[in-house]
Amino acid sequence: MSGLDGAWTRRWIEAIAAEVAARKSELTSLDRAIGDGDHGENLDRGFQAVLGKLDALEADAAPGAVLKLVATTLISTVGGAAGPLYGTAFLKGAMAAGDRAELDARALVEVLTAARDGIVARGKAEPGDKTMVDAWSPAVDAAAAAGDDVRGVLEAAASAAEEGAAATEPLVAHKGRASYLGERAAGHRDPGAESTALILRAAAATS
Ligand code: ADP
Ligand code: MG
Repeated sequence: MSGLDGAWTRRWIEAIAAEVAARKSELTSLDRAIGDGDHGENLDRGFQAVLGKLDALEADAAPGAVLKLVATTLISTVGGAAGPLYGTAFLKGAMAAGDRAELDARALVEVLTAARDGIVARGKAEPGDKTMVDAWSPAVDAAAAAGDDVRGVLEAAASAAEEGAAATEPLVAHKGRASYLGERAAGHRDPGAESTALILRAAAATS
């Protein structure tokens, strides 16, 4: 397979669900330090609900149809800030994927760009505000510069998101609950940036 098809998209979503379940308490600990301590539980509830619905999708569902199912499920089950933000990301990604049967590198970059743009439009955060945008933005930039091999695009996006998430540690937050803490948010990694890195690393790890 040269592009990413609907079956790959399902395997990616299943990989996210497994990683979120495994790292739920880690994500929640990050959110306990600078938020309200629910990020891991929120995402785990959402992706477990997605797993329950994937089976009902037609076997040959295109990537866009899988992404749309994820979006609507996250919007209705996750809540908080992250639910609508990730829901918007997957919905805009689904719209960018359209009814293509496979995503090549160029289409994948369009999907990732639409997801990031959706989060920015919804949450109004800029890079440096200590949010998930700090992982998404470098990921999209790296993906766009990665060339025409889908695996290369996925690896570039995952690595840049991980670096972006790590780089949130010294920052003071300007959006979300962590912004109420002022200087006290510095020294802690943003949970949403970390979950974004998880999501994109899961994509790079899915064959
Ligand atoms: P809540 O803050 O409502 O408890 P979560 O704990 O699930 O929601 O998610 C918190 C994460 O959401 C933060 O770590 C941050 O990455 C992200 N976030 C919060 N507000 C915004 C925003 N305006 N734009 C982008 N991301 C945001
Ligand atoms: Mg929270």
